[in-house]
Amino acid sequence: MNFDLTDEQEQLRDAVRALGRRYGHDYFVAKARAGEHTTELWAEAGRLGYLGVNIPTEYGGGGGGIMELAIVCEELAAAGCPLLLLVVSPAIAATVINRHGTEAQRKRFLPGFADGSLTVVFAITEPEAGSNFHRLGTVARRDGDDWLLSGRKCFISGVDEARYVLVVARTEDASTGRLKPALFVVPTDAPGLTRSKLEMEILSPENQFLLYLDDVRLPADALVGESVDAGLPALFAGLNPERITVAAMGAGTGRYAIERASAYTASRKVWGGRSIGSHQGVSHPLAHAAVQVELARLMIYKAATLYDAGRDLEAGMAGNMAKYAAGEAAALAVDTAVQAHGGAGMTTEYGVATLLGAVRAGRIAPVSREMILNFVAQHHLGQEKSY
Ligand SMILES: Cc1cc2nc3c(=O)[nH]c(=O)nc-3n(C[C@H](O)[C@H](O)[C@H](O)COP(=O)(O)OP(=O)(O)OC[C@H]3O[C@@H](n4cnc5c(N)ncnc54)[C@H](O)[C@@H]3O)c2cc1C
Repeated sequence: MNFDLTDEQEQLRDAVRALGRRYGHDYFVAKARAGEHTTELWAEAGRLGYLGVNIPTEYGGGGGGIMELAIVCEELAAAGCPLLLLVVSPAIAATVINRHGTEAQRKRFLPGFADGSLTVVFAITEPEAGSNFHRLGTVARRDGDDWLLSGRKCFISGVDEARYVLVVARTEDASTGRLKPALFVVPTDAPGLTRSKLEMEILSPENQFLLYLDDVRLPADALVGESVDAGLPALFAGLNPERITVAAMGAGTGRYAIERASAYTASRKVWGGRSIGSHQGVSHPLAHAAVQVELARLMIYKAATLYDAGRDLEAGMAGNMAKYAAGEAAALAVDTAVQAHGGAGMTTEYGVATLLGAVRAGRIAPVSREMILNFVAQHHLGQEKSY
C-alpha cells in the first residue's frame, strides 16, 4: 500500500495550489458578489493544462486520470476557489464523451475540454423526478434522422458559461417499448431551449438554472455513442468521477476553512498572553474537523485510484463513501471555523462564512447524503432496497 502521490502528481498539486493562491478566496467572493464568473482563473487553468489533466494525450490532454482531476479540484478549493464547473465539465461531461462517445465525438469535443476552451454542463435533475431518476420525464423522439427533445430540468449549474449541456433524456426502446436513458449534447443556444436563473442562497460565481426543452431539434450525432444502448453505461460512467471530484472539492474547502481558523486562533489573544487556540474548547473542535477532512481525503484517493485502475464497481462504493464523508467534513469544518473566529467569523473579510451555503449544498448535491446511505445500506450492508 502506497500513500504517496507520484512526483508528477506532487508537482501538479504544488502548481495548482500556487495558481489558486494567486487568485484566492477574495477574488472568488468578489466575482460572486458582482454576478460575474471566474473567467480569468478558468482561462489560466486551461492554458496551463489543469482543466484537461484527465483527457487522453492524443486529444491534447494531460493523459492522467480522475486522481489528477481530483487534485486540481481539491487544491483550487483549498485556496478558497471551489469551482463546481470542474465537476460538471471535465469530470462528468468529458468522461462520458471519452468513454462512450463515438470517435467523431471524441475528436470534436475532447480537444476543447483539454485546453479548457469548451465547457459542457450536465442536466439530469428534474422537478418531478428529484432523486428518483427512474421517473425522468424528458423524452427524445425521432423525427426522420433528427431527434426532438422535450422536458424540464432544474438546478442545472453553469448553463450561462457553457457552450453545450449534456442532457439525460429517455428514448423508447424499439424492442420492449419501455423508456430508457440516452444522453444528448445540446447547444445552449439551440432553438427551443430556454432557461431561467434560480435565486440560490449560495455565494458562488456559478449559477443554477431551470431549463425548458420544447421540441429542441438535434441532428442524429447529438446522441452520445453509436446508439441509444450507450445511454445507461454512459450515464453510469459519469457518476463515479462526479462523486470523487465533488468530494475533493469538499475536502479542499474543509482544508481552507481549518487553515484560516487555525491561523486566527493561534494569533488572537483575549485572555492575557495566551492565544485562544491554547484553549482546548477552541482547538479540539478544529482538530476534530481536521481528522474528518483527512479521513475523507484518504477515501477520495482510494476511490480515484480504484477508478483509474478500471475497477468501476469498487470505485462506485468508495466514491459514494468519499462523497458522503467529504460533504459532512466540509460542512463541519466551515461551521467550526466560523465559530472559532467568533464575531469575525460572520464578516466577509475573514472569508469563512462566505462558504456556509456552498458546504451546506454539498450535503444535498450532486447526490444527497440520504441517497448515499441508501446505496451503502443496500450494497455494502446487504439490506433490502428501501425505495
Ligand atoms: C448547488 C446545486 C447545484 C446543482 N447542480 C446540478 C447540476 O449541475 N445538474 C443536475 O442535474 N442537478 C444539479 N443539482 C440538483 C441535485 O443533484 C439535486 O438537488 C439532488 O440530487 C437532490 O434532488 P432533489 O433536490 O430533487 O431532492 P428530492 O429528491 O426532492 O429529495 C428531498 C429530500 O428527501 C430525501 N430523499 C428523497 N428520496 C429519499 C429516499 N428514498 N430515502 C431517503 N431520503 C430520500 C433527499 O435526500 C432530500 O434530502 C444541483 C443542486 C444544487 C443544490
